[in-house]
Amino acid sequence: MNLSSALHHRFFNVIQAEAEKLGVNVYVIGGFVRDQILGRPSTDIDFVSDKLGVDLARNAAKALGIKKIDIFKTYGTAHFRFGEWDLEFVNARKESYTSDSRNPQVEQGSLQDDQNRRDFTINALAISLQKENFGDVIDPFGGLTDLEQKTLRTPLDPDITYSDDPLRMMRAIRFANQLHFRIEQSSFEAIKRNADRIKIVSMERITTELNKIVLCAKPSIGFKLLFDTALLDRFFPEMVKLHGVEKRNGIAHKDNFYHTLQVLDNVCETSDNLWLRWSAIMHDIAKPPTKRFEEGAGWTFHGHEDLGARMVPKIFSRLKLPLDHSMKFVQKMVLLHLRPIALTKEEISDSAIRRLLFEAGDDIDELMKLCRADITSKNESKVQRYLANYEIVVQKLVELEEKDRIRNFQPPITGEDIMRIFNLTPCREIGVIKTAIKDAILDGIIRNEYEEAYNFMLVEAERLGLKPN
Ligand code: ATP
Ligand code: MG
Repeated sequence: MNLSSALHHRFFNVIQAEAEKLGVNVYVIGGFVRDQILGRPSTDIDFVSDKLGVDLARNAAKALGIKKIDIFKTYGTAHFRFGEWDLEFVNARKESYTSDSRNPQVEQGSLQDDQNRRDFTINALAISLQKENFGDVIDPFGGLTDLEQKTLRTPLDPDITYSDDPLRMMRAIRFANQLHFRIEQSSFEAIKRNADRIKIVSMERITTELNKIVLCAKPSIGFKLLFDTALLDRFFPEMVKLHGVEKRNGIAHKDNFYHTLQVLDNVCETSDNLWLRWSAIMHDIAKPPTKRFEEGAGWTFHGHEDLGARMVPKIFSRLKLPLDHSMKFVQKMVLLHLRPIALTKEEISDSAIRRLLFEAGDDIDELMKLCRADITSKNESKVQRYLANYEIVVQKLVELEEKDRIRNFQPPITGEDIMRIFNLTPCREIGVIKTAIKDAILDGIIRNEYEEAYNFMLVEAERLGLKPN
């Protein structure tokens, strides 16, 4: 195969010419080659040369008029940006591993050594930039066939490949999910055998791959593979505990693992928001620890939304996910995920809707997406009924939001106002009055405006024995 048609950008020729001047051979290798053949857009290109990688990068940057170049002396690598392109230069390497680290000892090697150390045959493809065979694909392991057959296969013995660098197990599953490829059987078995080795990989690296899975069009594929290989259990046992069905007195509950994956896939159809996707993953996370069988009621999971929200920080912390507003958002989603559906089960009062708007604030639209995704019964007529009720709640939300502007609720009377009007220093009564005003607005007793709130405040204050200045 010749891919010179994929190398039309002028920097390929510049790099080739500079390599020739230095007397080195240079190849494009890895992800870019794979993605070209698959027709996927990519702007990261890795160049590997048999020697003088840093010099080649320096000279090529100069010839292209690029001044900013990052050089990593210890690794003998260099990188620069050229427009939208990220160009990375490395020397061909030969690697050898020790059992306690995924960071190998590295020595200078040939192109073939460098291809040997790649994780999958489809990632080991190289394109020659030499004049005499410009664009020729160098495929020592049948990567082209594997691309055609959509197969992930390791170039060398899979047990050694995964044991050397266990992150490759996460990558296998991520690629299987992203590219819709099958992990070849012996590779899959090797992942199962080596799953425990994942412990030598830093959590940050694992989570980078995990998030790439979460951002796939249909992440259930990746999570099922993580579950089936027992990798998931190593870093996210709470999710594994969702798996399974228990039956008592002939009553079974649903399998919350597969339910969660269905909700996740559903959310992915309407949102690319990583944190809404994580909310879907976490929404029922506390079902196992809250599960009870109650005579008459069957299986219950009382308070799972509350406990779930409280479990989020610990899980985020272990997974090295950010402990900032993103985590707060996930907590809020988990805590509130039952509310919109609960609303459909009762006579829908304005007051309940206003409270939901108040608590969800600006995240109400995301919450509604999650709730819609959470309707997954196998019983089609039940789903239709829920969806219809859900639409009524959505409609009500829109109407009340237009009328009352609760979403970004700012109290019309602040604590400072109250202190000034009644000549108070900070004290308990201020909070009591503020809460009373807020409740009166949310319950529709008064409107969300100054005048009505002021009069309401006077009545409340009098009850507390306070007089205005
Ligand atoms: P993407 O850019 O979509 O994450 P990629 O395959 O390009 O996919 P990179 O992390 O950019 O992944 O790595 C570039 C190349 O380096 C890969 O194609 C592969 O050849 C090699 N590589 C990366 N990580 C490993 C690893 N852990 N073990 C072996 N080879 C790897
Ligand atoms: Mg890449």
